[in-house]
Amino acid sequence: MKVVLQNLTKVFPGRGRRSRGDVTAVSDFTFEIPDGRLIGLLGPSGCGKSTTLNLLCGLEKPTGGRIFFGEDDVTELPAEKRGVGMVFQNYALYPHLTVMQNIMFPLENLRGADRLPKDEMKRKAREAAALVQIDELMDRRPAELSGGQQQRVAIARALVKSPRILLMDEPLSNLDARLRLQTREEIRRIQRETQITTVFVTHDQEEAMSISDMIVVMKEGVVQQIGKPQEVYDDPVNLFVAKFLGTPPINVFDGRIRGEKLYIGDEAVLDAAGAGDREVYAAVRPEGFILSGQGALTCSLGRVEVMGRDISVVSAHRASENEVIRSIIGSDHKVDLHSEKVRFDLKPNKVFVFDRETQERIRI
Ligand code: ADP
Ligand code: MG
Repeated sequence: MKVVLQNLTKVFPGRGRRSRGDVTAVSDFTFEIPDGRLIGLLGPSGCGKSTTLNLLCGLEKPTGGRIFFGEDDVTELPAEKRGVGMVFQNYALYPHLTVMQNIMFPLENLRGADRLPKDEMKRKAREAAALVQIDELMDRRPAELSGGQQQRVAIARALVKSPRILLMDEPLSNLDARLRLQTREEIRRIQRETQITTVFVTHDQEEAMSISDMIVVMKEGVVQQIGKPQEVYDDPVNLFVAKFLGTPPINVFDGRIRGEKLYIGDEAVLDAAGAGDREVYAAVRPEGFILSGQGALTCSLGRVEVMGRDISVVSAHRASENEVIRSIIGSDHKVDLHSEKVRFDLKPNKVFVFDRETQERIRI
């Protein structure tokens, strides 16, 4: 089912004399989520991700704008009537209930004509459990499960009513690194199998990039960019998005455009045809450096870290915003470790230029 957000806005009023005034948690968010896709909602803590999910599921009422599931306007519809499955960071399982009872709980809550016979409830619970591969554990209680297993129970519980959409709010944050990887692949598999339109919230860019069909990058309640993960990585609209995506992070330099050339320090590093003279940030992805004895950009060599297939050259430059510059180079290249300097050419498609004031992208 497609999900449409139309000028969705949520303002929390400031409370009390010490409050710093109203908080616009979500500002004029418009987006049509295509049917059956997994959308990663990504941004730093406090940028409005959870509020967006709460608006979608009906836990919060919007200050402005509308929400549609398919053609249905659900803006005024109470949460329990929306047909949304919700998964939270802290699983929120009932400790005194078994896995089976926890998964059945949303069905037990149905009243009147919606209520299913007990056998049917059990069948659906087993079906959801099988989907997340915990059908062996149905008689255990949450305390007898690992964190990863508990989160699977929470996912099964969200799926048991065959929701129209699935919303997940940082579902992997309480898991250790290995389980996090495994569970995120699992979520991707379940989403592909069920084809339920899913919104997955995370502050972890790698997590969002790895499982999403599309990502939405937010900052302070405002959507910055929406696109396929690779497209956003390759073509960020502003400095915030460029810095938020990628590990190691992008390398940011104070730069200047003079006479249609991009300068870092006093070296012209790239052509900048069509761009007027101004102060800029020049941001270079780690994979955007080419080692070259005659390279355009001269940095002071720090150290070289061998990472198998690639090497990471750690260097410094006085115009660099970051303390160190990290460049990733194929391991067939040799770095003269005795040299104080290292020189690079830059790959034009890996260098992004941003206005120093607005931090918006300048196309060169
Ligand atoms: P995220 O999930 O991205 O960390 P949230 O959506 O939880 O961000 O919060 C967005 C902003 O809205 C934050 O500034 C937060 O303090 C504020 N906020 C969230 N919920 C409330 C609330 N119930 N009352 C007042 N302010 C809130
Ligand atoms: Mg949150």
